[in-house]
Amino acid sequence: MNLTLEQIQDFKGKYPKQIWSLFFSEMWERFCFYGMRGMLVFFMISQLKFDDEQANLQYGATQAFVYAFTFVGGLFADKILGFRKSLFWGGLLMIVGSLILATNPHDYFFLGISFTVVGTGFFKPNISTMVGKLYKSGDSRTDAGFSLFYAGINLGALLGGYLCIAIGKGEMLSGLIPEHKRWNVAFGLAAIVMVISLVNFIFTQRQLGPIGLQPQRLNADGTFSALAKWNEYSVYILSLIFVPLIMIMVSVPQYTDYFMWTVGPLTLIYLFYEMTKVTSSERNKLWAALVFIIFSIVFWGIYEQSGGSLSIFAANNLNKDLLGLDPNGVNNSGGAFFIIFLAPIVGLLWIWLSKRKLEPNTLIKFGLGFIFLGLGYYVLFATKFFATLQGITSLNIFTIALLVITFGELCLSPIGLSIMTKLSTEKLQGMMMGMWFLASAYGQYVAGQIGAGMAKVKTGANNYDALITYTDGYKQLGLYALIAGVVLILISPLVKKLMQEVR
Ligand code: GLN
Repeated sequence: MNLTLEQIQDFKGKYPKQIWSLFFSEMWERFCFYGMRGMLVFFMISQLKFDDEQANLQYGATQAFVYAFTFVGGLFADKILGFRKSLFWGGLLMIVGSLILATNPHDYFFLGISFTVVGTGFFKPNISTMVGKLYKSGDSRTDAGFSLFYAGINLGALLGGYLCIAIGKGEMLSGLIPEHKRWNVAFGLAAIVMVISLVNFIFTQRQLGPIGLQPQRLNADGTFSALAKWNEYSVYILSLIFVPLIMIMVSVPQYTDYFMWTVGPLTLIYLFYEMTKVTSSERNKLWAALVFIIFSIVFWGIYEQSGGSLSIFAANNLNKDLLGLDPNGVNNSGGAFFIIFLAPIVGLLWIWLSKRKLEPNTLIKFGLGFIFLGLGYYVLFATKFFATLQGITSLNIFTIALLVITFGELCLSPIGLSIMTKLSTEKLQGMMMGMWFLASAYGQYVAGQIGAGMAKVKTGANNYDALITYTDGYKQLGLYALIAGVVLILISPLVKKLMQEVR
């Protein structure tokens, strides 16, 4: 049965049934992605014998490139491939990348990583855009759908982030896997789950009706025809050419700086060019989308301390007063754990509020995102009041901070995906979603600089002084988050005007 778009979007109940197919494909893709990401630094230090600083810089570079590539993936999806083919091509590249790492991670490490970077760029933004397509514009259930989808993201992140490194380090299945094969198996697992993601997509994509099919060419007589095949093949070839380029760029950390300084302005110039081709009402919506994108850089810049300074803080300054759990384990996976439970509940809360005409609009949700983020960082600051003279403080309080920050994430991140699909014009959906993720690349970049700044201040300090330096830094970040929230509320009348009927 071939469903039409109307049939899909006229669904009864809370969620369209197609969302489950996208949920599972994205869940397995995130398993692969976070599984690999979780192994990078440890593998580089223990196996490739990089020093800490080099490993961290190289890790930062891969993260920047991964999220920057979403712009390219989104753009090509809009213009040539369509969302489905992009997703499929991205998934294939991710499988190739993980297979290379599974076969010989020591010699072909950066080659495998570069395939994964390009693959993620094609996969990640476009699956998110398809979620938005399941909803008619103005459907008040959209944010709940994205929240559910976000739970899938984090379920994959949690499982992959935990299992891959545990296998690699030999903490799991060590009786079954000979020691010299552990890393191969760990990377191999990432490849297997990515195959599951694609197989799931292949078998369920029929339910998507016309969603995500290739764009067509408009002929002079008003009819449409298929794009010439060479367009598609050129994208495939071009993306393969990117692989060695990324290998070079990632290997010299300084190149990441140049890249970050040029790619943002270039994408903005391109967006401004596209803006000249749309109606003024559409242009205003794109401006509003840009405001959300820019605010999200501030959000991720603060939020992403979790991978940097917070992991050092967790290692040196936290006790195990929460069920004896390892503080770094809690820091790495606590957020994802909370999201899996909270995201569907918060989604249902949006639906419940909307039925009573009380649902906050996107601006207020974003504002709340910053306020929770700020409060969370104040709780991190407050850990200092529970510290011993040795500079050790409570993991319980730290976990409360994580919970508060997670509420912030739920008000901003899935809502950001949702608003991108609502504010973009039909032909720029992929690219705008790519820009949303590109902002994450900048967020990671900023987060790295902030973390490095804090690390510099504490160099040579004893553990207690280091705790004071970090917690004071978190207070500062908390304040910045609150200021961002207030600024957003202050400019909200203007942004509301730009958004027009979109809520
Ligand atoms: N954790 C989310 C994901 O993996 C958000 C990532 C981001 O936008 N920085 O999709």
